[in-house]
Amino acid sequence: MQEEPVNDHLGGREREKVQSDADALRSALRGGRCPICSVLKTEEFDLLCKWVGWTDPEKQDAQTGLKFPAIFCNQHFWELAEVNTSQGNAAVGLKLLQGAAELLGDHAAFSQGISGALSHLRLACPLCSPLVKRDGELVQIICEWLQTAPDKELLLGSRGLCLPHTSRCYRNLQDPASKQALLMSLQQQIRQLIQELESYLVKRIPALRPQRTPDEERAPLRGIEKLVGGRHLPVGVSELGDWSSLEWPG
Ligand SMILES: [Zn+2]
Ligand SMILES: [Zn+2]
Repeated sequence: MQEEPVNDHLGGREREKVQSDADALRSALRGGRCPICSVLKTEEFDLLCKWVGWTDPEKQDAQTGLKFPAIFCNQHFWELAEVNTSQGNAAVGLKLLQGAAELLGDHAAFSQGISGALSHLRLACPLCSPLVKRDGELVQIICEWLQTAPDKELLLGSRGLCLPHTSRCYRNLQDPASKQALLMSLQQQIRQLIQELESYLVKRIPALRPQRTPDEERAPLRGIEKLVGGRHLPVGVSELGDWSSLEWPG
């Protein structure tokens, strides 16, 4: 039976976007990072920059549809504060606190407690929300790769996905052979990391440190990423690294 071309159902513009996502994922794979975490990190910063200096309450974000002020999650609020101007931070704080004061002045809302009053403002984080959507699109591309040469070989022969993304892809895959191939490559990647970390520690004495290979130097942070995903995973994705849900090959 002839294999159906991947994404054959997509229109031209959408196909172009998938192609550009695939190129970004391939490039991240060659860098030894979890490709999905890597692409999300870049996009997270681009999204964050859109909110810098944002003070117009009537302006609506084209991508998220959210109006200012929106409530950011803890991580993104602090990240925004770091790149924002002090005037921008002041304007953000002022708008949010004015909104909160208004709601707290409403006796009915106040009677539900502060969290009840603030729930009107507590929209999905304007960064997490689009990033979760993007995460789903990128997971879909990786799942298609797992069923198509040569990207399948590229992925399985790389340093692979972090555990949360392995878990996400695993759950999306229908084909048992692809599921098994994904987990077997994860086992291999973990074995390699263990060897590199052991070697890194053996070479901890100053005389041996120059003998560490580039992969050994990267191993401590690679190990953390493998376990919990990249630093910038959106809320809701980072909690998915559940080892117990994976059916390991015998
Ligand atoms: Zn990842
Ligand atoms: Zn967030």
